[in-house]
Amino acid sequence: MAHVIPSQSKSLDANADLQALDDAWRLGCSGRSSLALEISLSVHEASLLRNDLPLTARSAQDIAWYCFQIGKPEMGLHYASQAAAGWRDLEQPALEAQALSIHAWLHLELGQMEEAVTLAAEALDIADHSGDLRSRSLAINVTGVIFWMSRQPPLAIDYCGRAVALAREAGDASFECWWLINLGGSHAEAAYLALEMGDRASFDAAIGPAIDATRSAYSLAQSLGDGWAERLCLGNLAEYFNAAEDFIGAEQFLAHFRAITSEDDARGEGHYLDILGRTLVSLKRYEEALVPLQHAYALATVNGNVETLMFACLYLSKAHEHLGAFEQALDFHKRYHSLHQQFTAERTQRNARLADIRYETKKLRMLLDTEAGRTAEIARSFEALQQQTTILTAAANTDPLTGLGNRRRLEAMLDTVDASCDVYALAILDVDHFKTINDTHSHIIGDRVLIALGALIKASARGSDLAVRFGGEEFVVLMVGVTSAQAKRAGERIRLKVARHDWSAVAAGLAVTISIGIAVSGEGDDAPEILQIADRNLYRAKQAGRNKVVASGDASPVPER
Ligand code: GH3
Ligand code: MG
Ligand code: MG
Repeated sequence: MAHVIPSQSKSLDANADLQALDDAWRLGCSGRSSLALEISLSVHEASLLRNDLPLTARSAQDIAWYCFQIGKPEMGLHYASQAAAGWRDLEQPALEAQALSIHAWLHLELGQMEEAVTLAAEALDIADHSGDLRSRSLAINVTGVIFWMSRQPPLAIDYCGRAVALAREAGDASFECWWLINLGGSHAEAAYLALEMGDRASFDAAIGPAIDATRSAYSLAQSLGDGWAERLCLGNLAEYFNAAEDFIGAEQFLAHFRAITSEDDARGEGHYLDILGRTLVSLKRYEEALVPLQHAYALATVNGNVETLMFACLYLSKAHEHLGAFEQALDFHKRYHSLHQQFTAERTQRNARLADIRYETKKLRMLLDTEAGRTAEIARSFEALQQQTTILTAAANTDPLTGLGNRRRLEAMLDTVDASCDVYALAILDVDHFKTINDTHSHIIGDRVLIALGALIKASARGSDLAVRFGGEEFVVLMVGVTSAQAKRAGERIRLKVARHDWSAVAAGLAVTISIGIAVSGEGDDAPEILQIADRNLYRAKQAGRNKVVASGDASPVPER
């Protein structure tokens, strides 16, 4: 009889543990999945010690689900397969189907489409035979998500819609809420595909139902007190409003998102940062956008999420471009491009594998189609990269105020002429008393003077000369193949042109002159040295009273009285 006592105590403990799992489930349904995970892990340990098979299967299944919720799919895999095997041994097909569905979903989260499809098909089959509404609802939902992820929105909408209806029929409001979120995602996918095809009308037609489904999910989540689902809904609504170019609306949802605290939601956080960054870029708040985008970039790098990383790079490139940091913009654009290629290739492979499974007979044709599509897509994206590279390289070498080349442009050119051993002259032009112009007339007038000077200098330079804004109120003209005397004449021409220009159009009573220092290549070893000599000659021109041109051979001009 000795064995009766442990058996009784086992059943008592089992009741307490079952109660604990029920409590944990309610925690999981109210957004506290980390705590729910902790509880079910300790119940799981106890169940193994007592060799309580149903409790082991149940706790393992719950653990797998919480792992999904908090974005730790690798950790959940083992528990999901343990649960499915356990329920099979215990001949509980409805529960086995649920564990298989969760297992499929975890694989999907990890991008392992083939495993996900196999498991989901098995889950669907077993759930159908069991007739259990919740199990069917879960399996159909997971299949819908697979179609969504493989960009087949009509099938995704069909399956997710049926999953929602079944959850309602089963009276499970949490399932209904969660599957509604996926229904919204499937509609949004249809909208995004339409947008990619340039079909604005279909986009508008699809984004509405996406928003409606997600709003319904959101009110359900609110009434259930499910913070996890609320955050998902708000993040998605912000994404959809952003896509529909209602950026103010998007920002409002993001603000609500921030107001709901979460213990451990790396997945939601990454999505939030991504959408916040995009929204701020769209609102032209580029400086602000850098913070969430860099954060999203770092998060996605850590957890290896190619899609988020790709978009973080794209929007970082846009933000930097608008902030005038063209080198960084180009750098992020190149990274975006290579991630895009990787993402496209992976997605095409995934879809090809799925097509294999779904359309055995059409297998070859499908593969050929996707392969052709992929080649075309990559070619298109290459073309776009080349265009973008040209634009950004030009921008990186241009001074935005005057439209002249900038210092980078000059330095690149000087490297070339230094290497070619051509003779050349450098002229440095500096505005006289520019500080006074700013102080007397305002900085804006100062800028207009610089713009006008840029145009005057450009107009008087020959086709083979390079005129750049060197910085501040200094310009440099590089003249290849000219002597010091020729350079000096060119300098005099531009000096006079500036002095005689009618500046009253810029500001009443305004007069502008410039001083110029000149040096030629024979005077030093390399361009930096020549530039330094030209700068010394400029200084001499200033000392001599300004509005003068000085080259190295010149006797120091006498200051005018
Ligand atoms: P000098 O004849 O000796 O060259 O006198 P300066 O006043 O021109 O010399 P300084 O180098 O002291 O002053 C240059 C001024 O140019 C100071 C700076 O505020 C102004 N400046 C530099 N970049 C810009 C710009 O992009 N726009 C405007 N409006 N002012 C600028
Ligand atoms: Mg200066
Ligand atoms: Mg000056």
